[in-house]
Amino acid sequence: MKEIIFKSNVIDSILTFCKIHHPNEAILVVCGSNKRDKLTVDRLMIPPLSEYGPYYSGFPINMLPYDRSIVGTAHSHPSGDSTPSITDLHHFIGLISIIVRYPYDDDDLFVYNSKGESLEYRIL
Ligand SMILES: [Zn+2]
Repeated sequence: MKEIIFKSNVIDSILTFCKIHHPNEAILVVCGSNKRDKLTVDRLMIPPLSEYGPYYSGFPINMLPYDRSIVGTAHSHPSGDSTPSITDLHHFIGLISIIVRYPYDDDDLFVYNSKGESLEYRIL
């Protein structure tokens, strides 16, 4: 089981970004380092040509720069339900998918793998 670590300023930025875009869905690309036993998220990238809507947020995947530090995405669920949708699992990028549910407080952030299984994480 790989350990997942977030830098605390990254968590704060994700939550703030989601709050700013509410009631629309917001999406970010998360970057960091992926070691054998540890995945560290230490920075964010705003994807190019993002579109935000109440039920859908996305960006053209082919517009993403080639960047080996991309480890996944983070997006908000303004509905308040943190369960990944079928669409979320079909559009999985990288190793982890972060879903932040309304009202975007510290305990509203959830991390999933590509199977939609919830993963534990730690904040440093
Ligand atoms: Zn979603």
